[in-house]
Amino acid sequence: MNILLLGSGGREHALAWKIAASPLLTRLWCAPGNAGIAQEAECIALDVADHSVVIEFCRRNAVDLVVVGPETPLAAGIVDDLAIAGIKAFGPGRQAAQLEGSKGFTKDLCREFDIPTGSYRRFANAAEALAYVRTQGAPIVVKADGLAAGKGVVVAMTMADAEAAIAMMFDGAFGAAGAEVVIEEFLSGREISFFALCDGDTAIPLASAQDHKRVFDHDRGPNTGGMGAYSPTPFVTPEVHDRIMSDIILPTVAGMKQRGTPFRGVLYAGVMLTTDGPKLFEYNVRFGDPECQVLMLRMMSDIVPAFLASCDGQLKNFDLRWFPDPALTVVMAAKGYPGDYTKATRIDGLVDAAKLEGVEIFHAGTMAKDGAILANGGRVLNVCASGKTVGEAQRRAYQAVDRIKWPEGFCRRDIGWQAVEQERGG
Ligand code: AMP
Repeated sequence: MNILLLGSGGREHALAWKIAASPLLTRLWCAPGNAGIAQEAECIALDVADHSVVIEFCRRNAVDLVVVGPETPLAAGIVDDLAIAGIKAFGPGRQAAQLEGSKGFTKDLCREFDIPTGSYRRFANAAEALAYVRTQGAPIVVKADGLAAGKGVVVAMTMADAEAAIAMMFDGAFGAAGAEVVIEEFLSGREISFFALCDGDTAIPLASAQDHKRVFDHDRGPNTGGMGAYSPTPFVTPEVHDRIMSDIILPTVAGMKQRGTPFRGVLYAGVMLTTDGPKLFEYNVRFGDPECQVLMLRMMSDIVPAFLASCDGQLKNFDLRWFPDPALTVVMAAKGYPGDYTKATRIDGLVDAAKLEGVEIFHAGTMAKDGAILANGGRVLNVCASGKTVGEAQRRAYQAVDRIKWPEGFCRRDIGWQAVEQERGG
């Protein structure tokens, strides 16, 4: 098969690595890709926002399957446009991608199909939103309705923070994405990510993971796209797993089908394990980044037939195998991230680091220049490892980190700490 992968981050490097291992593969391209992805795929410069350009490339190169990594092309309807052109693509269509593209859409779906989530209301103007938060009190969560590159959520611990967030969103901080705002009950508990592969009818669980959103150790500092992750998380016990499937994932898939907008692709649930049981606080409609990296390390089965089964509605009889060993990834970012940072700094030691047992290094934002690897983004490398325990995976990943020579980079030193503590009986 000829496959085209869209995206340029660590998630796409992990997907490219996994797709490249498939015996079904003839040729793999990635648009636009990065220096790491170039080891697995032919990187090509395509304007992915222009769907006709992607269609034209697929026709010219007899592409059999397009795999879409990030959410933006999904929300823009690339899967629908490819389908109209007769090209198979993995991921949800424009309507189903609203599960990520509109927070209000997801909350309304939860209400309609009785899916456990925090109470909420939707607002189109600041005055009504302010009046509502005053009746609710803090802590409370203020969310821009649309896609805001992961920045559209403010967990307001005080009334003043909530008021400032509402003012900022209606002042246009997120453009059209903030023209509507969802105000949501603050949920307390442990936060986990849960992934399921869907074909419109059937959902099969992939695995659980926990990511680390704050930039510094001990969960301090601003939120980021994710500084590390591990899978599975011990906090998703078999009982919690079953409840997430029966109360959240399956009613979502059934509800979307009933509405005539079946969901195909990866459904990524952000779930809070509250004292009242698991509650959904958000959906994403693609693999998480960096969670995808650890899922790919743990997936034993060929991923290409799984993508095809999702596209073709054939997951009912499908089985996915996993390696039992946990996997963990440490994100190395450019100093200053998530604020300003310097680009084009040189990274050495990658080959040496990758020689360590169980270690795999994915590139999140790199470019190659004159035989050297240069940083080309905020999150730059995903140093991944598997091991018999999360603790062993963690040790291996940090050994690899210590072999990488990149003075302008940094990472958290505590990825996986909750699971390691639990393993130690703490
Ligand atoms: P998101 O950008 O949607 O991933 O949200 C960012 C973070 O906000 C999440 O990872 C949660 O930690 C937090 N969050 C979102 N919704 C809620 C909620 N209802 N209660 C508490 N925390 C939340």
